[in-house]
Amino acid sequence: MSEFPTSARVVIIGGGAVGVSSLYHLAKAGWTDCVLLEKNELTSGSTWHAAGNVPTFSASWSVMNMQRYSAELYRRLAQEVDYPMNYHVTGSLRLAHGKERMREFQRVKSMGRYQGMDIDVLGVDEINSRYPFLSTHDLQGALYDPNDGDIDPAQLTQALAKGARDMGAKIIRFCPVTGARRDGDEWVISTPQGDIRCEYVVNAAGYRAQEIGKLFGRDVPMMVMSHQYLLFDEIPEIAAWSKEQGHKLPLLRDVDSSYYLRQEKNGMNLGPYERNCRAHWATADDPMPDDFFVPAVPG
Ligand SMILES: Cc1cc2nc3c(=O)[nH]c(=O)nc-3n(C[C@H](O)[C@H](O)[C@H](O)COP(=O)(O)OP(=O)(O)OC[C@H]3O[C@@H](n4cnc5c(N)ncnc54)[C@H](O)[C@@H]3O)c2cc1C
Repeated sequence: MSEFPTSARVVIIGGGAVGVSSLYHLAKAGWTDCVLLEKNELTSGSTWHAAGNVPTFSASWSVMNMQRYSAELYRRLAQEVDYPMNYHVTGSLRLAHGKERMREFQRVKSMGRYQGMDIDVLGVDEINSRYPFLSTHDLQGALYDPNDGDIDPAQLTQALAKGARDMGAKIIRFCPVTGARRDGDEWVISTPQGDIRCEYVVNAAGYRAQEIGKLFGRDVPMMVMSHQYLLFDEIPEIAAWSKEQGHKLPLLRDVDSSYYLRQEKNGMNLGPYERNCRAHWATADDPMPDDFFVPAVPG
């Protein structure tokens, strides 16, 4: 095992998709003297639980631009870092139940086109050519985004980790950050394995970012909200359609009815956009668990 580093230019706290992506991108920019500290295994936070949908849609120019960049990166990453992963570019349909929604889609289409994406607004009569299983009687139209799809979030993170390590960056797993102090122009980050001095710290602790912020005297304004999705058994009609077409159905999003629906193998993954979503791990009678694992299913 290599020696524990005592200094680095940047220390990143948290080995989820965000922390590992930060490490990869810093290394790509030539900042290879960076260390990522993860209290557990990589992806053991929210990243492990993610459905892996890769939208480019946003009402914000800059968020759309970041998502566009991510989708482009995912297309070439496996080859670039030599780490094969499951990434399906299926396209997506976002449904409009009213004229207001169609106006929103026209605006998003203009933004997307300006950023070089082939986003389109479909009339109601064009929807079934993309998605035959959909009743369209109460729809006005849909936004079609050919760049959308799904990726395995754990594989993506491991691919970014491999890329970062290959460029010389370091990842130390099972190494929780327990303290931080300022010493002159440097930060001193404490862990059970020792201290690391650095110029910059990235707080990528995800659902624990508030806890990490406190070590630096910062109040990170955030709340953990619950979200879940349901996985279906195989649906024979979808299996037959996919076999005939040679590809998966596009991802479906309906923000008016409030859900996303994605083909997962030959079944479906249904994720509601929870209306009465509840904050979690915010009170003494609902404390944050040490780790965010899915308990093993008995049998
Ligand atoms: C059910 C569900 C479905 C989702 N679906 C999607 C989707 O389809 N598409 C999408 O884009 N997003 C989705 N998300 C959201 C997505 O999972 C998160 O936005 C993303 O994973 C956040 O990544 P992160 O790196 O910021 O945080 P995390 O993955 O939570 O990583 C934080 C890491 O920090 C580590 N850490 C915490 N404290 C310390 C410490 N003291 N020292 C060292 N390490 C520490 C943790 O162990 C953890 O590994 C979904 C989320 C859920 C729950």
